[in-house]
Amino acid sequence: MAVRSIVKIDEDLCTGCGLCVTPCAEGAIEIVDGKAKVMKEELCDGAGFCLAVCPEGALTVEKRDAPEFDEEAAAIKMAEKLAAGVTLTQKCMNCGRSENDAVLFPARTKGESTWVCVKCLPALIHG
Ligand code: SF4
Repeated sequence: MAVRSIVKIDEDLCTGCGLCVTPCAEGAIEIVDGKAKVMKEELCDGAGFCLAVCPEGALTVEKRDAPEFDEEAAAIKMAEKLAAGVTLTQKCMNCGRSENDAVLFPARTKGESTWVCVKCLPALIHG
């Protein structure tokens, strides 16, 4: 155990929409009984990529005592999800490029959390 950054989920705000599950590159978050949960603290690296996609503001990163991040366990978890057919690849809302083809940023539009790629971002900024 050591003091480190780790994701905190406010269950009162969480609607269980599941948008935070796939941005988690470590597979730490799953939906259980209609609420997002960090399944094992050692799977969460505290990077916070899930925060921007939550439409409810239910996710924050806090610093507290937690087990060390286990990179090997996270890789195994992601391999299990891929083997189970879970789609982990995000796509640009504008052109459909996947994160394998372009860098994606989290974005908000029309009340929804989505992703936009670096190639479409300038056109969206400048119209
Ligand atoms: S994105 Fe937010 S509201 Fe949706 S499941 Fe995750 S924590 Fe809950």
